[in-house]
Amino acid sequence: MTPQKYKDTLPKYYSNNREYTKWDMESFSKYVNLRFPHITVKPGQEWTFTKGTYTFICRYHGEFQEQGSRIMRGKKSRCPGCEPQETSDNQIRKVVIEVLEEMLDTLKTNYD
Ligand SMILES: [Zn+2]
Repeated sequence: MTPQKYKDTLPKYYSNNREYTKWDMESFSKYVNLRFPHITVKPGQEWTFTKGTYTFICRYHGEFQEQGSRIMRGKKSRCPGCEPQETSDNQIRKVVIEVLEEMLDTLKTNYD
């Protein structure tokens, strides 16, 4: 199941004509784990809404703390140990795109 599909199944509430997801500790833990399979929410914590700061456990680097809403929205798991790896993945992606764009430019110039 994708994180988005799981989120769609959760109960909703309305405030100022906007729809919000009614999270609790269980759904939050499951959502985080779907987004980042190597990250689990440390059990036994009290749910203090998405603004609360929680302890997470990275399978590779152990415990770290982060605000609930940041781990739910960001593209990165925010584990300080994973950060360099995730950053270098992004850098590689950026370089590949730059090279492809350059090749495309060269092709265009050749056919102009
Ligand atoms: Zn990590």
